[in-house]
Amino acid sequence: MSDQAQLVERFTDVMAKFTAFFGKRLPDDVYEKLEEMRRVQKSELAELIYDAMFTDLDMAKARNVPFCQDTGVIQYHIELGADFPIRNELEACLKEAVRRATKAAPLRHNAVQIFDERNTGDNTGHRIPWIDLEIVPNSTDAVIYAYMAGGGCSLPGAAKVLMPVEGYEAVVQFIFDTICERGVNACPPLLVGVGIAGSVEVAATLSKRALMRPVGSHNSNARAAEFERMVEEGLNKINIGPGGLTGELSVMGVNVEQAARHPSCLAVGVSVGCWGHRRAAIRLHADMSYELLSHKGVEL
Ligand code: SF4
Repeated sequence: MSDQAQLVERFTDVMAKFTAFFGKRLPDDVYEKLEEMRRVQKSELAELIYDAMFTDLDMAKARNVPFCQDTGVIQYHIELGADFPIRNELEACLKEAVRRATKAAPLRHNAVQIFDERNTGDNTGHRIPWIDLEIVPNSTDAVIYAYMAGGGCSLPGAAKVLMPVEGYEAVVQFIFDTICERGVNACPPLLVGVGIAGSVEVAATLSKRALMRPVGSHNSNARAAEFERMVEEGLNKINIGPGGLTGELSVMGVNVEQAARHPSCLAVGVSVGCWGHRRAAIRLHADMSYELLSHKGVEL
């Protein structure tokens, strides 16, 4: 086997194990946030819901199975070093990794081909797993964020181009309308991702990238960070509550990502993560050694 073929096989193997793993354990940041919210919310209903969540997580860990039946459609958001050795083979490797993970985990079969309306049976399909790439210059590493886009948490997703005169007030209105209308479908407490840009596809993409950021992290722009805090505070007053059964603290956080816009357009996108926010991050080096960034102390 050539050196490149060995790297390709090693990359596929690591990504298959990574993909099979991350539906079984919450990332550290989400787990810790849920523990914190459980401590703060003292109602009988909230206690019941948080007890059910943590019992579910414990049982999934003990039995080595996914903790939610909906293991979603797999998405990879990749910061790809320009000199990372797997480039030509990237899409084929990730498709094969998903096939292997689907059997090994096991993962529910969720990929349905548009127009054919046929489930492929292995979680791959046309443009699935979805790959969202950013090229990082002068790097031989790849940082891969993997996400299980479940049905309930994908349902509230929305994006719109606003009239520019509507301003940031309309951005806030759109976020609240989206969460009030459909947030309950996504098994709260929610992580809310917001993209703000000049066109609808950029705003939508950034809203999903925002969900790859850890809970509790903040936008590097001070005004954006303040916006995140204010929207989070407001959403925690709308009383959706854990499990959507009313109560305090409906969201784990609000993460905003932005891109410069055309002066005539202001677009907003909203993506939602559920309490079972299956988002994992791994850094692979050129020799395919790796570090799991999202789950401390875990060996694949
Ligand atoms: S919203 Fe999340 S926790 Fe609820 S069923 Fe869907 S994937 Fe599972």
